[in-house]
Amino acid sequence: MAVPARRTSKAKKAKRRTHYKLTINGLNECANCGEMKKSHHVCSNCGYYDGKDVATKEA
Ligand SMILES: [Zn+2]
Repeated sequence: MAVPARRTSKAKKAKRRTHYKLTINGLNECANCGEMKKSHHVCSNCGYYDGKDVATKEA
């Protein structure tokens, strides 16, 4: 519920925000190597995307 800004103390605000960002969104496990990778991005560990090695093909 909306409360005037000065009614919420710095300590109360900080304690509420300790729960922020416990999980990072948009991260998935790589199907090839199992490392955490960004979804819709080539895996930075093994260079695989959609089950194919796309990193070495380009080289
Ligand atoms: Zn990988």
